[in-house]
Amino acid sequence: MKTINTHLSQIGTTIFTRMSALAAHFGAINLGQGFPDQEGPADLIEAAAAALMDQRNQYAPLTGLAELRHAVAAANQRFYGLNIHPDTGVVVTSGATEAITACLMALLNPGDEVVLIEPLYDTYLPVVLMLGAIPKLVRLHPPEWSLPYNALADAFSPRTKLLLLNSPMNPCGKVFNAAELSFIADLLEQYDAYAVCDEVYEHLVFAPARHIPLMSLPGMFERSLRIGSAGKTFSLTGWKVGYVSGPNALTELVAKAHQNLTFCTAPNLQRAVAFGLAKPDDYFTVLADGLAAKRDLLAAGLARLGFGVLPADGSYFLTTDIAGLGFAGDDAAFCCDITEHARVAAIPVSAFYASNPPRNYIRFAFCKQESVLREALRRLETYLSRPG
Ligand code: PMP
Ligand code: GLN
Repeated sequence: MKTINTHLSQIGTTIFTRMSALAAHFGAINLGQGFPDQEGPADLIEAAAAALMDQRNQYAPLTGLAELRHAVAAANQRFYGLNIHPDTGVVVTSGATEAITACLMALLNPGDEVVLIEPLYDTYLPVVLMLGAIPKLVRLHPPEWSLPYNALADAFSPRTKLLLLNSPMNPCGKVFNAAELSFIADLLEQYDAYAVCDEVYEHLVFAPARHIPLMSLPGMFERSLRIGSAGKTFSLTGWKVGYVSGPNALTELVAKAHQNLTFCTAPNLQRAVAFGLAKPDDYFTVLADGLAAKRDLLAAGLARLGFGVLPADGSYFLTTDIAGLGFAGDDAAFCCDITEHARVAAIPVSAFYASNPPRNYIRFAFCKQESVLREALRRLETYLSRPG
């Protein structure tokens, strides 16, 4: 038989699916795959249910319902002072996952170079490779996850088409600051390159950190596509509603990619998300403050147990160093071991590297009820205090 797709046949099932299956198998508390264990806002769910009964169940327009496009544009203005055209500057997608692929399809030709920052979210690399583009990887330095300016500059060349920037970052919770963004902006201008900005955790940022879209920096608007996710912003990860904002010259092509991927997204969910994006500021601050409290609870508990806890200013995730725990194995082995024996699942951070990863970091999701986090800590304590 003829060879099937080379890139897809080389990658396995995502680590999130594998660890969730293992967690279910052992009845573990799942601090692996990032999803909240409580429903999102009841009024959004009611709005989605009402919209289903409202005779609007046929195909939505290609770039999204007008209600949602306007709500996305208004949120861009309200939170960041960005002027996005509601009719031509927004494309609604079936989750940020589709948005990332659509943006990369919109901008890349085979042979283009793409700068990616490790640790990196797991869908980036396979898509870049499938489009025939060439990844140029730059590593952040733990424990601070600092950006190596020289290595980043070295990764750019006249063939660089774009940088894929994830801030706040999965898995390490890094929120790029103004100085880092301005260094990145200078490189993009110097090399006439674009930015695809995965900002799905834009509203999950913990004070005093502040989310700054790269797009809001001088000269960046025309070069940037900014991706959001209702799944994260409204704690409804199963809804898979994403949105891309940007200049018309770029969103026009994103729409063409989207028309060949899914064409459109469930209209009832779009209407509920439009309602959600118009919520008062309070909703967004309560969401972030609640998560910050959970991060603090888990961070303090894990530090007490001997994990090296790395900083996390945003996202659902805490990364921790397991080197001091005396475990004779790598991060992946440790995650399997705690899933089975402590009955707490986590994700090995090595899964977020293309090659030669560090093998002493694991990621815990803290978007869980405080009682669940406490129980997970109790189980880990029992596990770590076992003799031998
Ligand atoms: N980007 C990052 C960094 C993520 O962590 C996720 C989480 N799933 C996504 C994109 C995908 O978002 P969505 O669920 O909206 O497709
Ligand atoms: N983004 C989620 C995480 O990092 C997983 C999403 C998925 O399973 N595709 O845990």
